[in-house]
This record gives sequence, C-alpha cells and structure tokens, in this order.
Amino acid sequence: MSNPPRFAWMNGRVVEWDNAHLHVDTQCVLGGLNAYEVVGAFWSETNGNLYMFRLDEHLRRLRFSAKVMRLQIPASDEEISGAARMLAALNEFREDVGIRIVAYFGAGPVFSYLPDAIPTGIFMIAKPVGRTPRRPGLHICTAGWSRLPDTAAPPRVKAGANYQNVRLAQIQAQVDGYDDAVLLNPIGKVCELPLANIFLVRSGVLMTPDVSSGILEGITRQTVLEMARPLGISIVERQIDRSELYAAEEAFATTTLSGILPILSIDRYPVGDGAPGPVTTRLQRHLEEELRAQGNLAWLTPVYDRRTPP
Ligand code: PMP
Repeated sequence: MSNPPRFAWMNGRVVEWDNAHLHVDTQCVLGGLNAYEVVGAFWSETNGNLYMFRLDEHLRRLRFSAKVMRLQIPASDEEISGAARMLAALNEFREDVGIRIVAYFGAGPVFSYLPDAIPTGIFMIAKPVGRTPRRPGLHICTAGWSRLPDTAAPPRVKAGANYQNVRLAQIQAQVDGYDDAVLLNPIGKVCELPLANIFLVRSGVLMTPDVSSGILEGITRQTVLEMARPLGISIVERQIDRSELYAAEEAFATTTLSGILPILSIDRYPVGDGAPGPVTTRLQRHLEEELRAQGNLAWLTPVYDRRTPP
C-alpha cells in the first residue's frame, strides 16, 4: 500500500498500523468467523469536518449479525462509536473514508462460542476510499451463482464467511468482461449485487427487492427509500423477476462507500437508453447532499469537535 494510515484500533487500544496483527490461529483467520460493518465517513468541505453516516444503524446491524452468530462483542456501542471517532481523528483524515469494524472469534475450538471456551475480540481499520473519478455506470450480468438462502447462511447477517458466495459471482463477472453481477436467490428472484442492493425504475415507480428476497438490509437502501418518499417518488418493495431487469427504464446499485451507482446494461441489454436516468441522478444528488452535511443532520456523527483548518 502506498500510504497506509498511521493507526488502527484493536481491543481498546490504538496501535500503529504495522502492529495491527491478529494471530493466524484464530477462528477469524481460519474460518472468516467475524461479523463486521463498514461505516462511511464523508468529508464536508463547507463545514470543514468529517461525518460518519448513520453510525447507529451500522452498530444495530453489527449487534444483529453478532447475535445470530452467537458472537459476544466485547465492547459497548458507546465504546465502539467513541473508538471509531477517535481513530478517524487520530489519522487526521480530511477525505472520505471507510471505517471497518470487525468483531471476531479468537483462538479456540472450531464452532465454540461460549465465552469460557473461546475469546472474542474487536478491531477497527479506517482507510480513504477515493470516490473520484467516478465511473459513469456499471455494465453487469446475471450471476450463475445463486445468493445464499436465508435457511442456510442468512444474507442479512453481515459476516466475513458469507462473502465467499458473492465473491464467486463478482470474480466470474469480471472474468467474463462485466463490471459486476446481480445475483438471483434460490427461487430465481432478483436479489442483490455482491456488495450492493439493487433498485429499478419501472413506469416511474422505484422498485427494490423486499427484505424477504434474501438480501443484506442495506443502510443506503434504507436511506434511498426514506429520501424518495418526501421527493414524491412512488416506492414498491417486492419480489422482482429476472425479466423485469430488462424491462426497467432505470437501474442503480446502492452501497455505503459508492453511494448510488447507475447500472447502464444488464446481460448486454441496455437499461433505458443506456445512460443514467432522471430518478437515478435526482436521488444521487440528494444522497450527496446528505453525505456532505447539507441534509438530515440526525444521520451524521461529526469526527472533529470543531472545523479543522484547511
Ligand atoms: N449487499 C451486500 C452483500 C453488501 O456487502 C453491501 C455493503 N455493505 C450492501 C448490500 C449495501 O449495504 P450498505 O448500504 O449498508 O452498505
């Protein structure tokens, strides 16, 4: 890495980046047994401050993922949010960053979970995300790999081990010359991209797979739904057929670090006229305002106590 950040945070301590180690003999390393979140922190030039976006929602999702995994997070929400803020401030970021918060199983017998059988830990790393220059849009395919079903490894649980599934889909898409893939669930309904939720616009109505379609319940997805209502955009959350992907006038993907990404073609069928549509660009503009502290301030947690000098 060209310029790594100065510090990471592990189990209550700030550590130098090069000393942020986890032993190879941990269930985290051996089986990817962790629950995690990536919180976006966005720089507002106007305010001279960095803001974590919807931190409370990320912490709630982390608690839920850990609960399903029977993983005890050895820190309170206050400790975690305080540490996230401190880590971003100590690294003196003045640009957009992703703060990855990882709760994990340490060294112990595989599949153990009780605190006296296996320790758990928590660490955090924060890195600039470099959002510009942005790609104008994505050319995606339908994945040959299905999304994991809720009855096997619930996608609404954000666990490191779940990512083998979407990784297969994304790598195959890239090998085949696409930017990314959209996965279908085991009954063939539209699910999500490897790292993002999907929205379509059909006859002016904004549509997205409902939360029972086997998706990660994305925080950007939720934000888009909450933004669209007051803008007078009709919303439908329901099961979506594969062929509806080809009928859409607009399509876009949503994810914390990239926001709203227009989808320009699916399986080489152009979406609409092959350029980002009006609903997509309108929502993109509104989301950008929210991230840059020009909207609902209740969604933001400032990193610095006061405006930082340029
Ligand atoms: N689905 C998956 C599988 C993801 O990994 C992500 C990224 N966290 C998303 C959707 C988008 O979720 P969010 O908007 O909370 O980043």
